Amino acid sequence: MIIVMLGAPGAGKGTQAEMIAAKYQIPHISTGDIFRYNIKNNTDLGKEAKKYMDEGKLVPDELTVRLLLDRVAKDDCRNGYVLDGFPRTIPQAEVLTSELEKNGAKVDYAIDIEVPDENIIRRMSGRRACVNCGATYHIVYAAPKVEGICDKCGSKLVLRDDDKPETVKKRLDVYHEQTQPLIDYYKKAGVLKSVDGTKDLHDVFADIVTILED
Ligand code: ADP
Ligand code: ADP
Ligand code: ZN
Repeated sequence: MIIVMLGAPGAGKGTQAEMIAAKYQIPHISTGDIFRYNIKNNTDLGKEAKKYMDEGKLVPDELTVRLLLDRVAKDDCRNGYVLDGFPRTIPQAEVLTSELEKNGAKVDYAIDIEVPDENIIRRMSGRRACVNCGATYHIVYAAPKVEGICDKCGSKLVLRDDDKPETVKKRLDVYHEQTQPLIDYYKKAGVLKSVDGTKDLHDVFADIVTILED
């Protein structure tokens, strides 16, 4: 089962992808997490990606596609995977489609999590990310057991640099311009499913499970 999560920054792609991955025992692949891991470890890829991420822009397709194709070629992806934050442009989606075709595979579900822009701005200011393992929380909607501390690994939680309101606005513009067209792309491919992302996160997950088990 190959699943693509669509939706604006902050719509809940990562939150839902994590739950899907746990329930169906498939890897959760987040290009954003891979970039942040590289930034933390100061790799060449990290240095390059950071220039774009800090400004709320997309990392160039060439770099991103190469990284993603390497990841999905790994053994653990044999039974499928859930992509979170990829594809983000039509060219990225086209490469994914043609690479999958070579193996007689395709994206089975593209799940669009719908959340209006007004909600996004509010939501992002409350997002907290673990500096060590990347786990995501929300100060109100998905609070950690101890304030400021990751439940999973005990490290510190921070507001991501690119989650400051100015950068969030820029990222939303980039989303509408470059990523939203993917909704139409996957609709034409016959695999688009939409869910109401303003619901409680457990209700959103229940809706997704209904779609996947239909
Ligand atoms: P969010 O979950 O809030 O949408 P991500 O963690 O997915 O954020 O992405 C953070 C940043 O990483 C993006 O703003 C962008 O700069 C970069 N990035 C992640 N995935 C991609 C991609 N597929 N193509 C280009 N840039 C990407
Ligand atoms: P994305 O990966 O699309 O950028 P996240 O999964 O990181 O989005 O969610 C963004 C923020 O909103 C996080 O702080 C997360 O805990 C919170 N969140 C996720 N889903 C919901 C929801 N249904 N209702 C309220 N807050 C949510
Ligand atoms: Zn952690």
